[in-house]
Amino acid sequence: MTDTLTPVKPARLIINGEAVDAASGQTFTTVNPATEEPICEVAEAGVEDVDRAVQAARAAFDGGAWPKMKPSERQRILWKLGDLILANADELGRLETMDNGKPIFEARQIDVHMVAGCFHYFSGWATKLTGETIPVNPGVLTYTLREPLGVVGAIIPWNFPMNMVGWKCAPALAAGNTVVLKPAMETPLTAVRIGELALEAGLPPGVLNIVSGPGAVAGEALVRDPRVDKISFTGSTEVGKHLMRTAADTVKKLTLELGGKSPNIVFADADLDAAVRGASNGIFYGKGEICAAGSRLLVEKSVHDEFVAKLAERAKKIAPADPLDPKTRLGALASKGQMEKVLGYVQTGVREGARLVAGGERQPVNGRGYFVQATVLDGVDNQMKVAQEEIFGPVLAVIAFDGVEDAVAKANDVLYGLAAGVWTRDVKKAHSVARRLQAGTVWVNAYNFYDAAIPFGGYKASGFGRDLGPDCLRDYTQVKSVWVNLE
Ligand code: NAD
Repeated sequence: MTDTLTPVKPARLIINGEAVDAASGQTFTTVNPATEEPICEVAEAGVEDVDRAVQAARAAFDGGAWPKMKPSERQRILWKLGDLILANADELGRLETMDNGKPIFEARQIDVHMVAGCFHYFSGWATKLTGETIPVNPGVLTYTLREPLGVVGAIIPWNFPMNMVGWKCAPALAAGNTVVLKPAMETPLTAVRIGELALEAGLPPGVLNIVSGPGAVAGEALVRDPRVDKISFTGSTEVGKHLMRTAADTVKKLTLELGGKSPNIVFADADLDAAVRGASNGIFYGKGEICAAGSRLLVEKSVHDEFVAKLAERAKKIAPADPLDPKTRLGALASKGQMEKVLGYVQTGVREGARLVAGGERQPVNGRGYFVQATVLDGVDNQMKVAQEEIFGPVLAVIAFDGVEDAVAKANDVLYGLAAGVWTRDVKKAHSVARRLQAGTVWVNAYNFYDAAIPFGGYKASGFGRDLGPDCLRDYTQVKSVWVNLE
């Protein structure tokens, strides 16, 4: 039986180690997109709350409680937070599913482990961020120190609200920064719960502050605040561009993880059954509300008809269902607005001349919810809107190609460059095509694999800087060169 009956307690802000209401007393209601029912009230951060949160983060950094702590102690606390996330996996999974609409299978079995994995992985880096001694001449001792930046503002979207807490906060904290995190208003619940667990793990007051609120108010205040040293943002390209302009005023460092329109390329020599599964997971996992979704399926002409028939057959079997049922593999889109946007794109595709071979409709579950069928549009031309614009839903655009050159040209002929997939049994082709693709991640005979140890981020309009892996630590630290005159 699925459980939507156990009440969820109201979520508050976390500022300076305490759960507090907004200064204005204002709250907003977070809604379950699968039932269209309210889940609970959430304290809504305004400018004054962001000011208090930044002040707390600034004091925790400048006062040194966190950056001056022994790195091994920071490591111990972050590892413990990872453990607490796993210990509370059922609750976190349920909250994420109710707030976002994704299947409990994904939230509980995948996302919880990813976010715990981030805290476990990056805890180890706290003791390993070293500088170098660099030989220049015998008369001087020259070395570098790798230091934290200060206060990091993290702004995250609604599609992977729990994962993003790990992606942003774990490396920032491991490097000795303090953080003000602004979750998306659609999905604040797991971030607030992880904030509470962080306090239980022993994170000192002010080190991680959480301010759920509107982007144009709370997000904007965070980006404008001169006491914030860096903004790490995941969200739309449009807002990312705006943040670049705003951050310029205070010369803030920025990491931007933005949209995508990723090609998933199937060559005729691939294991076609594996590729059908990969194409399907590439777009329908996470309801396609994934920046890296393989939303453009490029299929070699000689196998196109056979491949699309198999894929359409598979898509028709992935019916939307109750996200809290462990067997469900396609949940509800995160909001009504997102559902309408996705259905609008399906109509645009058909108007542009694409052929609907699976799905295409809203399909309520128990008469409710923002569910959209697993949808496949065939006969897409790479210049159509559905091939160029991010749909952010379970809608796949299938484009035929003829040979390697055509595949690479079509794959790269898009603004974005977040990820790509290549399906082939030819080792040389796999590696050479991987090199030629303009994308921050390339999966070969796989799709949507992630790990805390592997850098993730965009080429081109998909952004800059990296989340995850050792590379992202460069974006949360700065290097100081020290010259000591020995003569
Ligand atoms: P969005 O850009 O509308 O919002 C993202 C966050 O920014 C939210 O917390 C929002 O409140 C905040 N925000 C909005 N306006 C702001 C402003 N003026 N100042 C400061 N903050 C502001 O994006 P979304 O619709 O929530 O998320 C979907 C988008 O995120 C998609 O485009 C998707 O591709 C992208 N995304 C990218 C990645 C990646 O790693 N590249 C991962 C997940 C999602």
